[in-house]
This record gives sequence, structure tokens and C-alpha cells, in this order.
Amino acid sequence: MFESLQERLQEAFKRLRGKGKLTESDVTEALREVRLALLEADVNFKVVKSFIARVKERAVGQEVLETLNPAQMVIKIVYEELVTLMGGANVGLTMADRPPTIIMLCGLQGAGKTTHAAKLALRLKKEGKKPLLVAADVYRPAAIKQLQVLGEQVGVPVYAEGDQVSPVDIAQRAFDYAAQERRDVIIVDTAGRLTIDEELMEELRQIKERLKPHDTLLVIDAMIGQDAVTTAEHFHGKLGIDGVILTKLDGDTRGGAALSVREVTGRPIKFVGVGEKLDALEPFHPDRMASRILGMGDVLTLIEKAQEQVDRKQAEEMTRKMLKAQFDFEDFLEQMRAMRRMGPLQDILKLLPGVGAQLKDINIDEKELKHIEAMILSMTPKERRNPDIINVRRRERIAKGSGRPIAEVHRLIKQFEQARKMMKQLGGLEKMMKRGGKMP
Ligand code: GDP
Repeated sequence: MFESLQERLQEAFKRLRGKGKLTESDVTEALREVRLALLEADVNFKVVKSFIARVKERAVGQEVLETLNPAQMVIKIVYEELVTLMGGANVGLTMADRPPTIIMLCGLQGAGKTTHAAKLALRLKKEGKKPLLVAADVYRPAAIKQLQVLGEQVGVPVYAEGDQVSPVDIAQRAFDYAAQERRDVIIVDTAGRLTIDEELMEELRQIKERLKPHDTLLVIDAMIGQDAVTTAEHFHGKLGIDGVILTKLDGDTRGGAALSVREVTGRPIKFVGVGEKLDALEPFHPDRMASRILGMGDVLTLIEKAQEQVDRKQAEEMTRKMLKAQFDFEDFLEQMRAMRRMGPLQDILKLLPGVGAQLKDINIDEKELKHIEAMILSMTPKERRNPDIINVRRRERIAKGSGRPIAEVHRLIKQFEQARKMMKQLGGLEKMMKRGGKMP
């Protein structure tokens, strides 16, 4: 996501970086580029205008121009203003003081409403809540079925009454049902239309009136850019929303919606959808998003993803082993699998500082990882625990067992040994630092 915006912004800043002191016209010139980059990314033009004005006001001040590194100051200002533009801090779901919490999802057809109802349910369930999904889209019979299928996949019950009942009544009875079954969060999936129409808005208003949701969330598709923002403006005007779930950010979106929604509607993006899978939902953090946009990576999200996959104790144990160079192929395999559970390698690497923009044309070969896994699995448990015993004969056997050429087995073992050697050095360094010693 945002690749071309990232690239354009970095181009704009590169020119500044080459200079020692900056003049006002250097800054103006760079900001002109930033402005174009944002417009090209489909950011709403009014938003761009006020954004640039704010940055400019701060950036051409004497203080900035006279600092030692004005280019960096300008980037810092752009970063801070991007964070502010997207709402500052992350805003989570509004939970009821006394359960059940009611979340109402609305949006146009195809935005990802039903999928995101299930994603939210899964997330809440992982947090220890007992959600209930409610099928209140009675116009598209397939929608009810779809929610039931998704509900089953995430292991969350779905309340449905078919398509002959008014959605307002369904929502009301779902509330009673939740109380009876002690479900503590109700997620209502409402009907969508292809375009905004008055009848739909009236129905949504009625459901909202009756249910008094704690959170009314609008689901919008990032791929439609400006239109997503117009949709948000409309829904907010007619219905009143509390926040937005911005979906399909994994696609080839230019980013305009993510940058404009908050400023245009005054309502925060609470979550972003980053894939079709049901765990592809991330809380929206303006600061992390701004870092990603400026190519500074998003290490925090990376760490969170890792923590979801490996428990803390396991991670600590792994680090201890690594530093003592007791690391073996079993650990290697475990680590590789944990990493793959985090998602496609490409998406993970993009979160690293400086990697995002460079990665655009590189294709990470997931196949190669499969081959490595096959080779490790062709080792006996004893070999995995004691890689030193893997002699030539054993290597030949491993090659045969995994169906890989022998040269590849040699390469894997060599890489593994190098990695272990490096870790040993790191371990020694760490011990020394702990003793308060000096670097050699
Ligand atoms: P609804 O009509 O608003 O309920 O939309 P659906 O939930 O049926 O989603 C429409 C399509 O978008 C489906 O094919 C989903 O798999 C897909 N989709 C939903 N969210 C995402 C997302 O975050 N990323 C991607 N790539 N696809 C998504």
C-alpha cells in the first residue's frame, strides 16, 4: 500500500537533504512536490491545501531554517502533521459500561461489511469477549448465509431470522437473545446498497434509534479513493457515525482515503482491513501509518504481529539459546514457522524501516522457504539437535529425502553455521557489556 506516495515523498525530501542550509524557496519547492504527491495519492484537495499550509507555516520559520539539519526538521514536521491529520492517537472500540456493547456496522455493498463483522467478532473473541453476530441485511438473502458461514469459521454464534422480518425487529430481538445467552458484544451487520439512497438511510436511522449502539462504524473500501471519503461524509451527515473501518488497504490503494477521512468527517478510522482472511484486521495507529508513508517502517506493528504468534516465554527461551549459540535446526524451523504465520514475508518486510519502497519490485520466493522446510524435515531429530554430525553421507540422504539438490543442502548448512557463529559473537558481546567491559 502507498508505494507510489512513499516514493514521491522520498524524492521530494531527497532534494532537501542534499543541501546544507535551506532557504524559504527550497522549502516551498519541496512542499510543492509534497502537495503533488498527495493529490496524486487521491487525497481530498481541500485536505491537501490545509495540510500544506500548516506544514509551511511551521517549516519556513527561522528556527527551522537555522537548525543544523533543516531537511530533517522539515521531514519531522511533515510526519507530525500527517499524524495529526489522521487523528493523532489510535481510537479503539467504545465499550459499554454495562454489557452488552452494541456495534452497528453500515456501509455500501461490497465495502467489506459482512467480512469485517466476522473479523471484529474474531478479534473480540480473542480478547476474551463473547460476541454475537446479527444478520440484519434482509435484502440480500445470500448475505445472511454469508454471515452464518463466516460466523462458523470464527466460532461466533449468528442471530438470524431469515429475510421476511424487518431489520429493526431483528435487531431488537437479537438484543434480548444476547441478554439471555449472556453474550457481551453485539455486532449488527446491516444492509448495504450500491449507492447511497434515502430509503436505506431511513432504515439505518431506525435501527440506530432502536438499538442505540455504543459504536456506529462505517465500513468503506480504500480502493475507491475519493469516493470513499464522499461516502463517509454522506453517512456521517445523514446517520451520524462514530468511526470508520477502512478496508482493502492490502490492495493497490493510493492512500487518499486513509489520509482524508478524519479531516473530512471528524471521525477516526478505528480499524483497517488488510486482507480477505479473517485475521487480517489491524487497529489504526496514525503515527505508525505516518511512519510507513514516509518510508520509516512500522516496527511496532511488526513486534505486535510477532507477539501474537510466539508466546513471550518461548521468545525469551529462543533468544537465550541464540546468544549461547545452542541454537539448532529445531529452533530454526520453529522460528521460520512462526514468521510464516505472521503472513506473507513480503508484507512483514515492508514494515521494516527503509525496506518498503525498495521492496516494490522484489518477489520474495515463498517457495524457497518451503524447500528449506523440506530439507530440515528430512533431517532426523538427532541431526536437527546436533547439526555438527551432519556429514556428507547424511547430506546426501537429506537431499534425496527432500528432493532438493545436494548443493542446496550444503548451502543451508553453511548459512546456518554462519548464523550460529554470528550469534555466538553477539552473545559474547552481550556478556561483556553486562560485566561493564569495553568493546574489543
Ligand atoms: P459487504 O457487501 O460490504 O458485506 O462486503 P463483503 O464483506 O461481502 O466483501 C466484499 C468482498 O471484499 C469480498 O470478496 C471480501 O472477501 C473482500 N474483502 C473484504 N475486506 C477485504 C480486505 O480488507 N482486503 C481484501 N483484499 N479484500 C477484502
